[in-house]
Amino acid sequence: MLRRLAELRGPAVPPRPLDARALAALAANPGCRRRALLDGAGVDKGALAQALGAPAAFGRSQFAFVRGHAFESRVKADGGAELVRLLSEQLGHKPPEPDEVDVPELTAAGPEGRTARTALALRQATGAGRWALLDHPMLALTIAGTPAYLEPDAVVVGPDGGWTVVEIKSFAMIDGAADAAKVGAAARQAAVYALALRGVADRLAAGRVSEQALLVCPKDFSNLPTAALIDLRKPLATTRRQLSRLVRVEEIAAGLPEGVCFDPDRPAAELAAAVAAVPAAYAPDCLAGCELAFHCRERARQAGLVERLGRSVRAELGGLATVESVLAAAGGDGGDPDDPAVAALRRAAALRAEALGREAAPCR
Ligand code: SF4
Repeated sequence: MLRRLAELRGPAVPPRPLDARALAALAANPGCRRRALLDGAGVDKGALAQALGAPAAFGRSQFAFVRGHAFESRVKADGGAELVRLLSEQLGHKPPEPDEVDVPELTAAGPEGRTARTALALRQATGAGRWALLDHPMLALTIAGTPAYLEPDAVVVGPDGGWTVVEIKSFAMIDGAADAAKVGAAARQAAVYALALRGVADRLAAGRVSEQALLVCPKDFSNLPTAALIDLRKPLATTRRQLSRLVRVEEIAAGLPEGVCFDPDRPAAELAAAVAAVPAAYAPDCLAGCELAFHCRERARQAGLVERLGRSVRAELGGLATVESVLAAAGGDGGDPDDPAVAALRRAAALRAEALGREAAPCR
């Protein structure tokens, strides 16, 4: 299977590891086999989109990256004392003195070694009755048959044995509130980490993963950190359910013709054919979370698919999959009149014609 995935990626192309952001986006669109396969095979979707002539419009600038890195270092300064103070304040505990926070060493060779080292540190810190800050621990999660190694900003172990995921973001929290869409995205990422942490807790039969994550952001327009707890119960339940629905990568790969390859160095026409060989489930939400969104949107547009109007519209239209079939149904030239979607469209077309003072006609 690993050989097949390497063939799909391109023999000389190193795999791009799955991260929590990718997993959260996968969970948001579990019906997309295209994304599941490309992520599972470690294809660099950004490079692929570029080679297809439809580069993604999102990603962090170098400036934002440096700024985010500097803010994270500031939050974790003094042996994690400030970060643990922010969490203990949110939990209503007395903040510990700096020498009451342990920062275990987590370095090890390779992701498997780092995952094992993290599990050991979690086991040792749990039940020690002290605070411990795990800085960039490594967690493993198997998704659709593919192992993913995840690196949260931090995990804090409390004196009560509770494990809390920490997300450090560079967007501002103004008057105690931050952009709801950004907080939602942070919660979905934190839920992926919490899911992986639960796996560790189950294996160790120790520790309790908190259903709240600590979100740390710059306060107002300063560089001072402030924090809030975010509720993970709903994103955890959704992420677990959606990830369990993903079709296994082997199964998708088995349905592809021989010779399909997503190596970005191949000609654009060949890549477009390879991408088209894997079924997609485009929705406007893809624009916020997938590097291939512009390419998939264009293909959905060319095929006249109603998916590009959004999931709720798609669901309302039942078996009518294209804009053309919708217009035909509305104009009485197609569709089953007993289909509630067709009946509603005809009624809407009649009302529109009445409002415009003319006979019902196709809404073209
Ligand atoms: S943009 Fe394309 S590949 Fe990405 S999730 Fe949407 S449909 Fe799937």
